[in-house]
Amino acid sequence: MSNPHKNSVAQLEQVAQLLKSDYSDKELLFDKAIEKLKTPDVVYETELEVTMDDGSSKKFKAFRSQHNNARGPYKGGIRYHQDVSKEEVKALSTWMTWKCAVTGIPYGGGKGGIIVDPKKLSEKELENLSRSYADFLSDKIGPWVDVPAPDVNTTGQIMAWMVDQYQKNLSKKGLIQENPLGTFTGKPLALGGSEGREEATGLGGVMVLERLIEKMGFDYKKNVSIAIQGFGNVGYWFAKHAAERGYNVVAVSDSKGGVYVPEGLNPDKTMECKRANGSVVKCLCNEKLCDMKNGKVITNEEVLELDVDILVPAALENVIHKDNASKVKAKAIIEMANGPITPEADKILSKNNIILVPDVLANAGGVTVSYFEWAQNLQGYYWTRQDVVEKLLPLMENAFSDMWEMKEDHKVDGRMATYMTAVKKVVDTMILRGSI
Ligand code: NAD
Repeated sequence: MSNPHKNSVAQLEQVAQLLKSDYSDKELLFDKAIEKLKTPDVVYETELEVTMDDGSSKKFKAFRSQHNNARGPYKGGIRYHQDVSKEEVKALSTWMTWKCAVTGIPYGGGKGGIIVDPKKLSEKELENLSRSYADFLSDKIGPWVDVPAPDVNTTGQIMAWMVDQYQKNLSKKGLIQENPLGTFTGKPLALGGSEGREEATGLGGVMVLERLIEKMGFDYKKNVSIAIQGFGNVGYWFAKHAAERGYNVVAVSDSKGGVYVPEGLNPDKTMECKRANGSVVKCLCNEKLCDMKNGKVITNEEVLELDVDILVPAALENVIHKDNASKVKAKAIIEMANGPITPEADKILSKNNIILVPDVLANAGGVTVSYFEWAQNLQGYYWTRQDVVEKLLPLMENAFSDMWEMKEDHKVDGRMATYMTAVKKVVDTMILRGSI
């Protein structure tokens, strides 16, 4: 199995090769910065001892990787999964450094994880595990140090338990002036969460779509057809915001398959129907609810191969691979899921001139609104949804423009251009600080 951290280092080396010429007067500093960025600043690991419902105790291996904080506190989620590993957490923290730099939010990269299948724990055991992890993290995090958030299998409720445990630990040390709410994001609204967070990732993707469409020269949105794989949080909000702006969302899918409606579907009605029937594939028979007159059921593979303008993978990793990449007919792909395209597929898509907006840019709306949550917690002043939307727009638009400029200047694909802008921002800050 490939080592995700080695992959992230190989990717950084490739980016460095392309950026090198921009640093001809600071070659040594550039090389030192790149060398430092290959390894996280620190990786903590421990075994958490957790009391189970039957009174026994069980151990779980846990990690927190803090990759780089040149641009601000480490930032990144906490993953609960049986496949978590130290190498994965290191890689994910590296990618968080780039993701935060892409939209210019003042954070570095971090990531945490516990090797556990949370579905096998009761609610109380999950709470015990989360509190135990917060104990382990308490002296390593803080609003100006490292700000964790939810990731795979972690929720607002888990953040709430961690805030509570972290605050208890601060109190024990007499640190009552510290800000526990500003130390975690992705919290429920009732505990300092932000308006607009739920829709932020999908909405941010549509903000990017709008700029992309301009660059591609479309002048009438209704002519732009969009197929979306995955109709969960990200896929639904992307579909809803795209349809509301006049785009033609022709296909959506979930784990059971997809629906293709050439004249366009209504995302709200489709979601209502999916909730009522369990899957979008059960919606065609329900015309009253979904109004998909000329639609048909298709497989998840077929969603990826539809003849559309924009393809949006918004479900799983590695769904576009060497065996199906050449069948992709879309003119552009907006990667809303994390890592939906394998490196081999990337090469095929690039050869076929398919424009790519990579995950670290396309789905950065989520972490950007997490930054807004932190900013609100630090001020103790809470914004409306409208405030959040207005503040998100320029950050997503600027990130897209930076990527496009880099793509044109260096004649590279969208993924490489995005990584180049991100790495450049981090390296420039490291050089500015004189820390290398
Ligand atoms: P989700 O669980 O809400 O939705 C996932 C959707 O994918 C569901 O509709 C599910 O039915 C569908 N799905 C599962 N297996 C599938 C398959 N084989 N084929 C097609 N669809 C399938 O998750 P989400 O929060 O929407 O996240 C989706 C992706 O976006 C993930 O890669 C996640 O890491 C990434 N992401 C999410 C956020 C966020 O804010 N939620 C932020 C950044 C990145």
